[in-house]
Amino acid sequence: MIIQLQPDISSKQKENLIEKVNGIGYKTTEVKTQLGDYIIGIGKKEFDIRKIGQLDGIRDIHIVSDEYKLVSKKWKAKPTSIDLGDGVFIKDGEMAVITGPCSIESEEQIRKVVDHCVENGIRMMRGGVFKPRTSPYAFRGMGIEGLKLWHSIASDAGIKIVTEVMQTSQIEEMYPYVDIYQVGARNSQNFNLLDELGKVDKAVMIKRGISGTIEELLQSAEYVFSGGNEKLILCERGIRTYEKASRNTLDLNAIPILKAKSHLPVIVDPSHGIGIRAYVPQMALAGVMAGADGVIYESHEIPEKAYSDGQQTLDFAQSARLAAWIREIFDKRKTFDLL
Ligand code: PEP
Ligand code: MN
Repeated sequence: MIIQLQPDISSKQKENLIEKVNGIGYKTTEVKTQLGDYIIGIGKKEFDIRKIGQLDGIRDIHIVSDEYKLVSKKWKAKPTSIDLGDGVFIKDGEMAVITGPCSIESEEQIRKVVDHCVENGIRMMRGGVFKPRTSPYAFRGMGIEGLKLWHSIASDAGIKIVTEVMQTSQIEEMYPYVDIYQVGARNSQNFNLLDELGKVDKAVMIKRGISGTIEELLQSAEYVFSGGNEKLILCERGIRTYEKASRNTLDLNAIPILKAKSHLPVIVDPSHGIGIRAYVPQMALAGVMAGADGVIYESHEIPEKAYSDGQQTLDFAQSARLAAWIREIFDKRKTFDLL
């Protein structure tokens, strides 16, 4: 169960409430976020909800039987809107377009991508400064100095920054320069990292694990939420299957399922999802039609020269066309009365 507390609940009222919930055989956890305070009750026994619901200091009470609770739509039907400032949102009913290189490589490259974003009305730029690479000998990113440089250029242009945080020790040093912390697929179940991201007041985008289930992704989001941070975005980026013809298998099924199960916005990453440049646009548009609230894809001035993931990266002309198509398909989607 989720109990939303009144902001002015007294400590006595809270003590009494916890005692009553424990009394029906439920274990309680207190959750404090920037937006509200909650008591989560975990247990299986049947009980009369009115007995708890009428106690003082409660705003609302909901029965949520899923393993994940706070990220579930069962208590919060209203979709979560992520406000990044300056009129930039990631939310149900809007289409977020996020593009940029796999890796941040140089000042010149940053300027070119920022210009590309500005020219195409794209307000969010992606790029890794700490890169998780399968081989330790591959390029591993420009690090915090690269992020500072990127931030100085992007903020002048009103572009928001989406970049991966790989470990807890990076959270604080990155904080002044990021708008969305990306949790990569390989870190999707790094629970220490998720716990720590619960303590920040900036948005977190969690990518689905390489072999993670939908439920596991939601549980990862639950970690961050229960740690205190409600500003969460889910990202479907493909999973590993037995199929070898594509890098991963973009699980389009996950998009409507996540949207139905959770109030959090859902973003699709067709670049890592299929891993083949020529097919990225199709999969991006398929993701939009499947109900995504945004698309994140890789672009670079000269993809063949990208330090990483060039094979799945669009050039700027392709990216400009795709961004326009994404918006066009999204507008079309609104006219379909999908169940
Ligand atoms: C990336 O976004 O470049 C990346 C490494 O993604 P993922 O964690 O999904 O592999
Ligand atoms: Mn990449």
